[in-house]
Amino acid sequence: MEDDRLKTKSPVTKDYYYILGVAPNCSQADIQEAYGSLQDRFGSSNDLDPEAQARAWKDIQAAYETLNDPAKRKDYDKNGSVFRQANDVRALWTKVTSGVQSVVQKQEQTQTQELKAVAGKIQAQALEMTIEVSLKEALKGCHRQIVINDPKACEECINLKPVNRMQCQTCRGVGYFTVERRVEIELPRGLYDDQEIRRTGQGKWDMRAGMHGDLVLTIKLREHPILGVDGKDITVTLPISIYEAVLGAEIEVPTATGKGMMKIQPLTQTGRVYRLKGLGINGGDQLVTIEVVVPQQLSAEEIKMFQKLKEMSRMPNPRAEIYATMQTLS
Ligand SMILES: [Zn+2]
Repeated sequence: MEDDRLKTKSPVTKDYYYILGVAPNCSQADIQEAYGSLQDRFGSSNDLDPEAQARAWKDIQAAYETLNDPAKRKDYDKNGSVFRQANDVRALWTKVTSGVQSVVQKQEQTQTQELKAVAGKIQAQALEMTIEVSLKEALKGCHRQIVINDPKACEECINLKPVNRMQCQTCRGVGYFTVERRVEIELPRGLYDDQEIRRTGQGKWDMRAGMHGDLVLTIKLREHPILGVDGKDITVTLPISIYEAVLGAEIEVPTATGKGMMKIQPLTQTGRVYRLKGLGINGGDQLVTIEVVVPQQLSAEEIKMFQKLKEMSRMPNPRAEIYATMQTLS
């Protein structure tokens, strides 16, 4: 008997009073108030699945438009006499879902079994994330805590038809809510730009597949204000004074992990590249390109000294080779 009623009049049939959460004998003001609070609820929950939200909202809209119009409401009440028994139907439905075998329930079981069968074949969707690391972190490796929002099926309304889920206080009609999960990730030393790191089964829970997807991290090397990266090598251009260039010096050099000291050989030319072994990424080097800086201001005495130096100098004309080459051209 109950089964027959469920077959002919499915509880999915839209009960506008139930959708708005009001009693069938409520006032128009009650309907407007219920609609307003539903509007607020939907407006404030931007974490909901947009599709489910749109579906639910469409029903609410239809219910409101019908019940808020006295003529339409009268018509609905007359034709929808079945909804005067709405409470009976719901009671039935509750019975059905709490154990009484019925056609509908059997259908649902079949669907669930089918879903489970499919679940084994569906590959869980991977969660892709970009991780920005500093040069130092790339060199040394680093630790990150990643927050993942796993969807979790709502136990409160899992057995209800979608249209009846809207009353669920736990998931607000979406059928699931999200649970925060923190994943600790150790990134190895020697990271490089666009590197892909995959953590199998550590991604988001995939409800369709019934398992966690992979977590796929793409490394992005944050730009360093001073240092550059060329493959495994770290590069830097370092200005030195004319005195340091001529006499040699020991100077401080910025490195990926901080700073170090390096020796400048006497008579170092502009453009000379010093290779600091092992200071790059993953066994690479740090390449220091020297740029000799000439004084921007000199005292009269300094100028005199430079003139004296020039007279003393046995330095050949640095353009001699260029001139020689030019002469060979016809
Ligand atoms: Zn729910």
